[in-house]
Parts: sequence; C-alpha cells; structure tokens
Amino acid sequence: MPLEELRCRKLAREAFASAMTYPQQQVESRFRQLSVGGKQVEVRTFPDDERNKQIEDALRRFDPNYSPDFRAKGDLKKMTFIKEFFESPDHCRMSPYSIEFRLCGKDRCPLCINVGRSVRTPATDGGKLRVEILRWLNRPVPNPVDKDHYLHPQAGRDYIDRNNLSFEQLEKYRPDAKKDSREMERLKKDKERDKKKKTFFDKSKVRSTVTCDSCGAERCIYSKTVEVAKQRSKELEQWKEGGYVCGNKVRVEGFEAQRKLRCNDQMETQYYDMDSNKRGGRVETKIVCAVCYLDGDFVPDSEVKEKRNLKGKSPLPICRSCFDYNIAVPVSGGKVNNRQKAQQNKAEKKRRLDDVVNSGKRKGRKN
Ligand SMILES: [Zn+2]
Ligand SMILES: [Zn+2]
Ligand SMILES: [Zn+2]
Repeated sequence: MPLEELRCRKLAREAFASAMTYPQQQVESRFRQLSVGGKQVEVRTFPDDERNKQIEDALRRFDPNYSPDFRAKGDLKKMTFIKEFFESPDHCRMSPYSIEFRLCGKDRCPLCINVGRSVRTPATDGGKLRVEILRWLNRPVPNPVDKDHYLHPQAGRDYIDRNNLSFEQLEKYRPDAKKDSREMERLKKDKERDKKKKTFFDKSKVRSTVTCDSCGAERCIYSKTVEVAKQRSKELEQWKEGGYVCGNKVRVEGFEAQRKLRCNDQMETQYYDMDSNKRGGRVETKIVCAVCYLDGDFVPDSEVKEKRNLKGKSPLPICRSCFDYNIAVPVSGGKVNNRQKAQQNKAEKKRRLDDVVNSGKRKGRKN
C-alpha cells in the first residue's frame, strides 16, 4: 500500500503513534541526560498541526514563494528570500552536525527587517549581553600543544575569541572520518579483504539484503550457492535482527557482505542487476536512488545521458532532487559504450559553449 494512502488512515496513524511512543521515550530520556555549554538539553514535544500552521504562515510572510510542498534541496532556489537567508553567513551556519539561525543585530539589515523583529536585549555594559545572545555555537578546537586532543570547551571558547576564528577555520578542525589515518588504514584492510573474496560479490549471488541502522542504505548479502542461502536463511534472519551498520561482517557462515562499504556510500552496483534474477536464485531488490536511497521520481536514463557526461557508462537510478542538486551520477561498472561516449563528449562541449554564450548575454543585459 502506498505510504500516502496509509498516512490518510486514521487508525493506522494512531497505531503508528502508539508504536512509536516507546522508542521516542527512550531517545528523549537519553537526550535529557546531555548538556550543551552547561545547559541541560531540552526535549520538546512534537509540534501539533496548529504549531505547524503557525510556522508555515510565518515562512510565507517571510518569503511569499514558500510552499510546504518544497521538500527537496533542489527546491530551495524557488524560495528566493529563504535561500538568501540560508546562504548568508551573518544569519545561518550549517555543518554536518548542526544548523544555527540568528538575527544579525545590524541596523537596517533587509533580511532581519523581513523577519519582522530585531534583537531584544536590555542595554548592558559594553553590549556584552547582546554579543552573548548573538554568539554562534562554540566548536571543538584542537589543543595547540597537543594536536591529538581538543581543548576544554571553556578554553576552546577563549581561543576562538582571542583568534577571532571564522566558521571556515573552525570547520577545518572538524574531524573527517574519511581522512582519519586509522580509518584510512581500516578501509585499506577492508578493501584487501573484499578483493580476496571477489568471487562472492557478483550480481547473480545477491541472496538477501540488510538495512543499515545508521544511514538507511540497503546492502547486499552474498552467498556462493542458493543451497547455502536456503539452509541458513533462518540463521541469517536472526543475525539481521541484531542490527547492522555498513561494513559490518556477516556473522553467519557461507554469507558475505562487502566490508569496504561505509555509511552514505552509494548503492552497490550489484544491487540493481535484476536480469540475473532468473539465473541462480538471486533475491529481488527494490529500485532506489543510488545516492539518497529513496524511491520514486527517478530521472529517465535518456535524460541523464543527455544532460551529463558519463563517459559512455550506464547511469544507476538517481532521483530528481539528487540530480537537480548536481550530485555526480553513480554509474554501473559495466562496459563503456564508445558510441555513447563520443556523443556525450560532444553534448558536453555544446553545453559549455551554451553556458559561455548565456553568461555573456546576462552580462550584456546588466550593462
Ligand atoms: Zn540581519
Ligand atoms: Zn550505513
Ligand atoms: Zn536521491
């Protein structure tokens, strides 16, 4: 049944709400134990329809082009003022871990005027309270004399102030899992391990899939023969219940998953090959976007090939919003189609030329 239809059913909604109560309470109680900057984390109840309407109305007042139907990143450009607010370093800071909005406190700032209110702080000595209110979140700063550790939050805060560190500078201190030397070492080992078991990782040997508890990607589980898969299917299901995160080992004999996989990596190309379904008992897989793992609103292959240069390779399924956001289209590892490669190279040249011509026209108009 389509999710939309299910959502409309009152009984299903109630059942879902009550089923979610327990995990919700657990998450809430864990968050309540945390503190940020000495203040305890506040857990608020989910906004009801009335509150949702209030925020929608406010957003519409701020930007008449706002619509709650705009959900994809690609839709952002349709809402000029909201886009400007998101992209203004004085009003918004975004990182993979946090998002912050603020009024900038500057006189006659058009964005703040549009918000409809200014910073309300009583006058204090040297405007300290205002500075404090407008202060961005402190981020971890490495200890200058011990680069392997971060400074204590208070010392970090002083360091940020003393050196007047910008957001870009602070972002550089954010540890990147992919550049971490230990992680790089681990990935190298995992790749070597996968290479040794190469014969497993064939599109015709996908016997089952498992969903990552962290990123939500569906990863393939392989076994050499259908017999093994059938004999130990119960054991495999039990193992799956224990939870899975990308790159984990399948702890059931005879089964393998690619160890080099990391959360948010694109879908495995093997996941998509449905032709081999008939040969050798391959499991059936649902088509999802290779980038964001969601289904629906796929860009037709012909359009992808026309608009992007894939160097003759075949595109994996990609959804409209990922495509519009200019994310590189993942391709299958199959053979290169030389005729298509030549065509796409030609098309790309033409696109570039058109861009140059168009930007020339735009500049022409301004003058
Ligand atoms: Zn402002
Ligand atoms: Zn994952
Ligand atoms: Zn997508």
